[in-house]
Amino acid sequence: RPTIYGPDKHPIRREAISKCARRTCEELQRAGHAAFVVGGAVRDHLLGHVPKDYDVATSATPEEVRSIFRRSRIIGRRFQIVHVLCGQDVVETSTFRAQLTREADPDNTDEHGRVLSDNVFGTQAEDAARRDFTVNALFYDPVKEEVWDYHHGVKDLAAKKLVMIGDPALRYREDPVRMLRAARLAAKLGLTIDAKTEAPIHTHRHLIENVPQARLFEEILKLLLSGNAVACTQLLRKLELHHGLLPLLDDALENKATGPFALAALKATDDRLRDDKPVSPAFLLAALLWGRVENGLRKHEDSGQPSIPALHSAMHEALDEQRVSLAIPRRFDATMKELWLLQPRFLQRGGQRPYRLLEHPRFRAAYDFFELRARSGNAPLDIAQWWERFQDANADEREEMMVEDE
Ligand code: ATP
Ligand code: MG
Repeated sequence: RPTIYGPDKHPIRREAISKCARRTCEELQRAGHAAFVVGGAVRDHLLGHVPKDYDVATSATPEEVRSIFRRSRIIGRRFQIVHVLCGQDVVETSTFRAQLTREADPDNTDEHGRVLSDNVFGTQAEDAARRDFTVNALFYDPVKEEVWDYHHGVKDLAAKKLVMIGDPALRYREDPVRMLRAARLAAKLGLTIDAKTEAPIHTHRHLIENVPQARLFEEILKLLLSGNAVACTQLLRKLELHHGLLPLLDDALENKATGPFALAALKATDDRLRDDKPVSPAFLLAALLWGRVENGLRKHEDSGQPSIPALHSAMHEALDEQRVSLAIPRRFDATMKELWLLQPRFLQRGGQRPYRLLEHPRFRAAYDFFELRARSGNAPLDIAQWWERFQDANADEREEMMVEDE
């Protein structure tokens, strides 16, 4: 059934594969099992990209895998996978599995067709068929240097096409997150979503509402931290996947006063990832919600509330409002609130106040936030420049710089 591409028919040399993934496949094969690098890593290698992680698929059961590798551990309860460790590296090793279809197990889906429980062990062909896109269903054997292709993935990848395996509408009903994955992968890999794969998105996008919040947030975070957040967001908007479902992206970019700042934050994140610099999800989330915080702040100030309590009210309302559609896990709350609360303090440049702000443990992040706002027309640029000089100035120069409030 699969098309098998020999070593002379594709560009992946085994030396390019991570040592740990190679060793995992070699040892499993030596013990008599089938074992392949699978999914995103094969796709990325075919595109000449370096994958960020490796998955191995094998005919061995989790217990068999566990018994072959001394440094390995079984994780997950419902569907077990094995983490094989080599030095600092981890390779996620899963047994071939099949996805139960609605016909085979009608109890395994909700009323919209979403698959509820995890899968069962299956054949390699079934393991290929349960995957989402043809380019994600490729297997690479690092021992024989062969690419096994059950779904025309090699040719689709060469044609830069993202094609859903099977009936796209059915696959979106099984797992609506696949719509978001389509947008993310197409943007990240520069692929065009095939017409038949794209068409049902319009009529199925409301199903995203049924996805558990934690999983949805995880996928949004992947999208925002993909290194192509700007392109992903644009594609989401084109597919109308952001609308109503993801107000975080929705009004963040449509807000006239803060939209350019939200976009600048997405772009800054992409740039930092490209330069291998660390990025803070809380910073980005705070930037995306800033438009709402600022609107609320203005509303409360206009109705006579002093600015600090007004800011507190606005922050809580922004977070509560967001929670209705897509809850940001509470672990991000503290950092986001701190970034927001420090913003008005950049406007105060007299007395001890700038010195105290400079010593705040979150000064750096809060300054970056303020500076990005200033560059996007959302804060006074001269004040951002003042802070830039103030940080580098010596004690005498700093005293000279004090600006008393009018
Ligand atoms: P990335 O580069 O972001 O890691 P990826 O394709 O490797 O992209 P993962 O989430 O790591 O994405 O998933 C690994 C593989 O598992 C995919 O390549 C695909 O074969 C399969 N997969 C992941 N999510 C789904 C899904 N929702 N439905 C079907 N198959 C999926
Ligand atoms: Mg992956």
